[in-house]
Amino acid sequence: MKATRFPVLMYHRIAPRCGGDPWCLSPRRFRAQMQGLARAGYRAAPLDLFLDWMRGEADPGPGRFLLTFDDGYQGVLDHGIPILEALGWPATLFLVAGRLGLGSDWERRGGGHRLLDEAGVRELVRRGFSVQSHGFTHADLNALADDARLEHELTASRQRLEALTGSAVRTIAYPYGRTDGRVQSAAREAGYEWAFGVRSGFNRPGVDPMDLRRLDIRAGDGPRRLRRKVRFGTNDGRLRTSLQYYIQRIQQRFMST
Ligand SMILES: [Zn+2]
Repeated sequence: MKATRFPVLMYHRIAPRCGGDPWCLSPRRFRAQMQGLARAGYRAAPLDLFLDWMRGEADPGPGRFLLTFDDGYQGVLDHGIPILEALGWPATLFLVAGRLGLGSDWERRGGGHRLLDEAGVRELVRRGFSVQSHGFTHADLNALADDARLEHELTASRQRLEALTGSAVRTIAYPYGRTDGRVQSAAREAGYEWAFGVRSGFNRPGVDPMDLRRLDIRAGDGPRRLRRKVRFGTNDGRLRTSLQYYIQRIQQRFMST
């Protein structure tokens, strides 16, 4: 069966103690989510397979999804990667290239968390994980009125990660998911071919490559709610919403015949 949609999951931090941060999952919660998806027949795909499918050059088959982690927290390597390796699942990490080895100083809550250093990034690549850009300082790109600063955020990040990993960086996840036409064309000029935002929904061939869809996964998502999010391409994994989706699909079917 041909894949007609490809959900992309967006994660942030994994840590044993999350301090109530909704974008931080305990290793236990993350493992339960991944095992739940595996039991339901889903499998994570490498970034290249996703991009080939978007280009219309590959058919990954049903049940594939892409796993992404924003910001590059040390906890993802320490606690998340071993869980993925046990399943043989790949993932893509979007790193803030100018803050490697430092803290996430853009976070107002919690005072910042430790980010992967250069050795950690090389370790990830050695273990087969993909490393891509999340800007240079995590600046909100939409808010950068100065073209030179915008260009620096985009280009410096790509160049530093390419120098560090020895492989091409052609994909970016916009900090805060914020983007507009100006940011998108600057990203293209800076050498990016693909860019992820935070609009929910499925990616299909034809979706704007500079504003790819992702699903926002949080600590409160139990395995069942996560499966519904992946299945329906929505950030709202509540049962009621899922039923509404089915009703709409049935109505559409009647109307189109
Ligand atoms: Zn971020």
